[in-house]
Amino acid sequence: MATPAHIGRFTANNPGIMTLQGTNQYVVGKDSVVVIDVALSADSNLDGIIEQVEAMGAKKIEKILLTHIHSDHCAGALALRKRCGAKLGIHRSRRGYLGGEDFQYDDNDRITFGGGELRVLHTPGHESGHCCFYEGSDKVLFSGDNILGYGTAVIHPPDGNMTDYMETLERLLGFDISLILPGHGPLIGKPEAKIREYIKHRLEREQQVIAALKSGRNGIGEMTQWIYVDVSAALQRVAEFSVQAHLEKLMREGRVKKEGARYLLLGDN
Ligand SMILES: [Zn+2]
Repeated sequence: MATPAHIGRFTANNPGIMTLQGTNQYVVGKDSVVVIDVALSADSNLDGIIEQVEAMGAKKIEKILLTHIHSDHCAGALALRKRCGAKLGIHRSRRGYLGGEDFQYDDNDRITFGGGELRVLHTPGHESGHCCFYEGSDKVLFSGDNILGYGTAVIHPPDGNMTDYMETLERLLGFDISLILPGHGPLIGKPEAKIREYIKHRLEREQQVIAALKSGRNGIGEMTQWIYVDVSAALQRVAEFSVQAHLEKLMREGRVKKEGARYLLLGDN
């Protein structure tokens, strides 16, 4: 599915192993538009967003919305606000985080743009204040870092929470979505399949964590090495966070307990 004409994208020049090709910054609307995420404060990045706005024939940026407060999504927000006079919004739980927000939003709020509106979905997991934005008329979901164009989202405890994340994925399955526009990587034309794949992947990972515990591996480091056989050194820490996030979910469910640095299975898992 092609992106609707009233949605544009400018990808920030911040490629990397976590950001893929760079952060996707979206422009939504006609005449007066909303910008979702501003990764960098450099003039070249703000110029790119503004050129995208002009290319769409729009006249002004009315609002800036943030999917979450990781710097690769918000570091340029105040600079863009200053440059174009847009109102900057942030999730209610992150009020004051940047020190220059104009309004807050929360789950199910509606945010208007020229020609339509976005529904705010508070979607914790990757980050506790994470929001996705759903445009119901075209069935487009701006997924931030909860669903990426390829690879999987990073769940980094303690703010990242696997229990919340799985609930978020299940909730998103309940929406009629034709197109996902992610915070990183290419657009996703088969949303339901992608979300189901994400859920399946996490459940498989959880089973691997349980199998590692059953095999007598009880520390996060040794479990990670056993589960992620050929993970690169650069991603080793990320893999450890993932294992930790799964263990915390299992502890919340009463299936695992922690003794010192060791994790132990409870009952007949
Ligand atoms: Zn990101």
